[in-house]
Amino acid sequence: MTHPVLTALGLNDTESGTYLGNGEWATASDAGVLEPLNPTDGEVLARVNATSKADYDKLVTRAQEAFKVWRATPAPRRGEAVRLCADALRENKDALGSLVALEMGKSKPEGDGEVQEMIDIGEFAVGLSRQLYGLTMHSERPGHRMYEQWHPLGLVGIISAFNFPVAVWAWNALVAAACGDISIWKPSGKTPLSAIASIRICNEALKKGGFPDIFFLFNDAGTELAETFVDDKRVHLISFTGSTKVGRHVGERVARRMGRSLLELGGNNAMIVDATADLKLAIPAIVFGAVGTAGQRCTTTRRVFIHESIYDDVLAKLVTAYKQVEKKIGDPTDPANLMGPLNSQEGVQAYLAAIEKAKAAGGKVETGGEKLDRKGNFVLPALITGLSNDAEVVQTETFAPILYVMKFKDLDEALRMQNDVPQGLSSAIFTESLKASEQFLSAWGSDCGIANVNIGTSGAEIGGAFGGEKETGGGRESGSDAWRAYMRRQTNTINYSDELPLAQGIKFDL
Ligand code: NAD
Repeated sequence: MTHPVLTALGLNDTESGTYLGNGEWATASDAGVLEPLNPTDGEVLARVNATSKADYDKLVTRAQEAFKVWRATPAPRRGEAVRLCADALRENKDALGSLVALEMGKSKPEGDGEVQEMIDIGEFAVGLSRQLYGLTMHSERPGHRMYEQWHPLGLVGIISAFNFPVAVWAWNALVAAACGDISIWKPSGKTPLSAIASIRICNEALKKGGFPDIFFLFNDAGTELAETFVDDKRVHLISFTGSTKVGRHVGERVARRMGRSLLELGGNNAMIVDATADLKLAIPAIVFGAVGTAGQRCTTTRRVFIHESIYDDVLAKLVTAYKQVEKKIGDPTDPANLMGPLNSQEGVQAYLAAIEKAKAAGGKVETGGEKLDRKGNFVLPALITGLSNDAEVVQTETFAPILYVMKFKDLDEALRMQNDVPQGLSSAIFTESLKASEQFLSAWGSDCGIANVNIGTSGAEIGGAFGGEKETGGGRESGSDAWRAYMRRQTNTINYSDELPLAQGIKFDL
C-alpha cells in the first residue's frame, strides 16, 4: 500500500525520476531503480526509475532550448514565475514537510521548516528579480561611459545532499530562475521522492501561470550519469552540496573543463562558551545545534569549548538536557518527537565507528553512544569528553549526533582550537563580553563563513550568504549577493564622442 504521506502529494509506488520538459516524465525503466528507505522502519517507500543516458541528453537539449526563451524574458516577469512557485509551495507546505520528515528522517517541524526555507528564498528571489544591479564607472576617456551588467549564465546543474533534500534545490533553482537560468537537478539517491514532489509542485504552478519549463530533474541509480553531468560542457555551473570527499572530486572535474562550480561541503562547527556566557541561552543552543536533525546538518555543532571555570557545571547541565532528549526520540512524522533516526544504516555504522575511535583515543562517553534496540536507524545522541582537538576523530566530520566537549583557559586558545580543523563552515561564541565578541568576529577571530554571537551554529537565515571556507569549499548560496554566481558579468564601454582615444595614448597614423 502506498504510504499516505506519498498519496497526499499524488505520488505512487513507482515513479519516474526524470522530468524531460514539455510536461513529460520519462517512461524508460531500464536505467536502474532507486529504492528510498524509510529510516524509521527500513521499509522501501517507493521505487523510482533512474534516468537513461538518452533521456538525460534529451532533457539537456530541451533545457538549452528553454534557456533561449528564458534569458530574453524580463527579469521581473521571471520573478512572477518564482512567486507562483513560492505560493504553490506554501499551499503544499504541510504535505511536503511531512514527506521530507518521512524520507529524510528529520522531525516534522524541521521538515516544515525546510519547506518554509523554500518559500522564503522564493520571496527573496522575487525581490531580487528587480535588483540584479550592475555598477556604472567613470571612464578616464572624455565622452565615454562605462558600466557593467549581469546576464543570465545558462544551464545550472544542482547536485544536492540527502540532509536538506528540498531547500538546497530551492536556494539554487529559485535564485537561478530569477537570474534567467534553467536548472537541472540531480538529487540525492536517498531522497528522490521529495525531489519529484517539489518539481511537480513548482512545474504545475508554472504551467498554470502560462510559464515555460525552467526546472528539469534526473536521477542516477549509481554515479555514472552524475559524473557525465559534472563533465558536461553544456552545463555552465555545477552547484554541488555534499561531502568534502565527493565535492573535491566534482570541483576538480569541473575545473578541468573550465566550468564554474559552487561548492557547499562538510563542516566541523564549534561553539565557544566563555566564563561570562548566559547559560540560559548557551545550553539550549548547544543541544539544538548538536542533536537537531540527529546531527545531520552541515552546520551541526560538533565541538564545544567551555571555559575551565564553568566546565563542570555546563557538562552536568548538558548531560541532563541530553537525557531529556532521549525520551523524545522516535518517528519523525510525529511532531511530539525532538529527534528522528539517522537517514541510513551507513550513517549508523559511521556513528558507531566514531564512538569506538573516540574511546580508543582516550575519550569518555558521558551519555549516549549506542544504537537503539528497535527497528530503523535510531541512535542516542552522544557527549564525549577527554579528547584533544587534534584527535583524528575530532578533526573529522561524522554526520551523526556526536558532540566533543573540551576545556579552554583563554580566548586565544579557544579560537586556535576552533580554527584548527580542515573545515570552515559555521562557528559561534556565547559571551556577555563585548571584547570577546569583537575578537571572535575580528580578522584574527573565527575563520569560518558563518560566525555568530549568542546564537548557535546551525539554522541559517536565507537573507545572508551561506557557505564556508577551507574544505567547506568556499561557495556562497542563498541571500546577500550570492545571486552573482548564477550570472555572467559583462563590462561595457560606450564612446559617444567624435574621437577615438586609444589605450595608453598611442597614436595610429592611418
Ligand atoms: P555525498 O557527498 O555522499 O552526496 C552528495 C551528492 O553527490 C548526492 O546527490 C550524491 O548522489 C552525489 N554524488 C555522489 N558521488 C558522485 C560523483 N562521483 N559525481 C557526482 N555526484 C556524486 O553527501 P551526503 O551524504 O548526501 O550529504 C552529507 C554531506 O553534505 C555532509 O558532509 C554535509 O556536511 C554536506 N552538506 C553540506 C552543506 C553545505 O551547505 N555546506 C549542506 C548540506 C550538506
